[in-house]
Amino acid sequence: MQLKYVATTCPFCGTGCGLNLIISDGGVVGVAPYHRSPIGTGKLCMRGLHAAKAVGKYRIEAPTVGGLPTDWKKALTEALKLKNYSGEDLAVYTSSRLTNEANYCIMRFAKEILKAGTIGTLISGRVARGNVRINDLKKADVALVFDDCMKRFPLTGNKLFYMQQNGGKILYCGEESYTAIQADAKCIEDADGKLVISDEFKNILKEAKNPVVIYSTTGKYAELAEETAKSCNAKTAVLYDTNNGRGAAEIGFIPSLDTLKATEKVPKAMLIFAETPMFMDDIYEELGEKLSKVELLVVVASNASSLTDIANVVLPVTSFAESEGSYTNWEGRVQKVSAALTAPEGQKSPCEIIAELSGKAISYKDTAAIFADIKANIPAFKDVSYEQVQKADGAFIEVI
Ligand code: SF4
Repeated sequence: MQLKYVATTCPFCGTGCGLNLIISDGGVVGVAPYHRSPIGTGKLCMRGLHAAKAVGKYRIEAPTVGGLPTDWKKALTEALKLKNYSGEDLAVYTSSRLTNEANYCIMRFAKEILKAGTIGTLISGRVARGNVRINDLKKADVALVFDDCMKRFPLTGNKLFYMQQNGGKILYCGEESYTAIQADAKCIEDADGKLVISDEFKNILKEAKNPVVIYSTTGKYAELAEETAKSCNAKTAVLYDTNNGRGAAEIGFIPSLDTLKATEKVPKAMLIFAETPMFMDDIYEELGEKLSKVELLVVVASNASSLTDIANVVLPVTSFAESEGSYTNWEGRVQKVSAALTAPEGQKSPCEIIAELSGKAISYKDTAAIFADIKANIPAFKDVSYEQVQKADGAFIEVI
């Protein structure tokens, strides 16, 4: 049996560990360490070790209209009825798990062709940027961690263990959790869910030589963490739950899940690039009642889900292991994503779908050409070279 190893980036959390997908007989059969990864240096957490599952078992084999299989021409014609809507009647939501290149094409389509009133990602939280790199966490003398970041971002958490070994201290704020157990001192929220950061913690941060505040963009205490970092003059490590949450944010997609959940007035038409297979909870199940009121729901997905069940049009798309391009991790490091598999017959990449929907107005000869356009038009990427992204260390979107 011939095995092929393809180096790529983990599709789960925003830490961005490198890994090898092991390919045999045209399928992913496992995951192996990628020792040249500047983040994991060969280590992976349990989720990363199961990245083979990110391809998904229940692939959508053909486009559908009204739940029935059809050909691409008819499905694209139906999908293009999105153009009958605009402004606040039309929303485009992407997945913050897609590559930078796919999301750039989707953003152009949403803005330039559809002129959608809402353009976002179906994730919670906020857009925020830290100013510390992952491997510098080891050098901090004090880290104030909010929420259970060491469990949710295991290889980021790993750096904090190195920091402790070097004599650094972990302070923790939040609910009782795995991170609370690892901490040297903690402030736990009270029974009413109130959290008060002690003056002692603030003084330790102020007096530290190299303090850092660590929180996630979806964390309950993100705002408090930002305020504390500012008042104590500490650097920040801002963690994104999804592999390309930072990249999607830099391209201009706003986390919109909370707004969509809260609104009574749902847009009449929606184009959703789904997160399939679902890596976390099925957020679409929760939104099902709301989304079933949408007049025209076009879903681009690789795998069947509660969302594809209610869509008027479904366009089958390539999955993570068939994608080429880049992800941007929480620290702003742009790393390559390699196509380990050939897409199954009848599936198109997100960029090919956008090229078709835009009548070739948004069409590129290859991924490098899309990246060149991103570099020219998205300020955060202006100093990033495509060649550097192909190397093991990747390239940073901005100088810290
Ligand atoms: S820490 Fe995150 S990026 Fe690294 S292997 Fe685990 S899930 Fe993947």
